[in-house]
Amino acid sequence: MTKAAIIGGTGIYDLGSQIRNQPISTPFGQVEVTVMTVKDSSKEIVFLARHGTEHSTPPHQVNYRANLWALHHLGVTHVFATNAVGSLNPKYKPGELVIFTDFIDFTKNRPSTFYDGAEGVIHTSMADPYCKELRRIIAEQAPRHGITLAGEAVYVGTEGPRFETAAEIRMYRQLSADVVGMTGIPEVVLAKELGLCYAGVGIITNWATGIAHDHRLDEIMEAVDRNKADLTNLFCHIINTIDLDQNNCHCNQACMKM
Ligand SMILES: [Zn+2]
Repeated sequence: MTKAAIIGGTGIYDLGSQIRNQPISTPFGQVEVTVMTVKDSSKEIVFLARHGTEHSTPPHQVNYRANLWALHHLGVTHVFATNAVGSLNPKYKPGELVIFTDFIDFTKNRPSTFYDGAEGVIHTSMADPYCKELRRIIAEQAPRHGITLAGEAVYVGTEGPRFETAAEIRMYRQLSADVVGMTGIPEVVLAKELGLCYAGVGIITNWATGIAHDHRLDEIMEAVDRNKADLTNLFCHIINTIDLDQNNCHCNQACMKM
């Protein structure tokens, strides 16, 4: 069974064998995923291109419910996500990577729950939106794969597709956010509603509006491309080595029926 998925903003890196594309019908629409068998293993990994296989769907129109429902339908229990983000925190620079620990939601017009009332009133705990255990494993394994995580970050999700104003960024900074992006929410929320372990790594591609620092764009883009490939390798390694049937966390107990 397919138990692990990688969600990314861009294409799939060719790391394994027996790659197949699989369309999945969901109550929210059609999704296409790529399923790959890990090298030297019988484990399968699902790759999901968040913006669609043609990278044509803008962040505010991504069908987050269909994407997560499709993964759940395939039997996925562990999700590794990457998101392009801008940095609000001078400590975290473009080209670097951060691991998300929490989020602040400033999205506006997105369907953000599977629980619209048909199942009764269900509230989902956001005490640990990003799986503590996966975060621990990623932080532990990254250096062994030559990957430097600059640190932990609070993610602020905005609606997009416009960028933020300088005043908004100043406000987010005061609210303790470190990085800003348009694609992380409600993805993490929906994962939690389905009881999945979900971890997110931010790939910093730019400074947020109004935060002026000198930087070389070509160097940043080079680092971003390298990070994407390195992270995919890291996630595949983790999926290959951890026991996906064993959970040392409470992600699958986050939903509470009232
Ligand atoms: Zn978990």
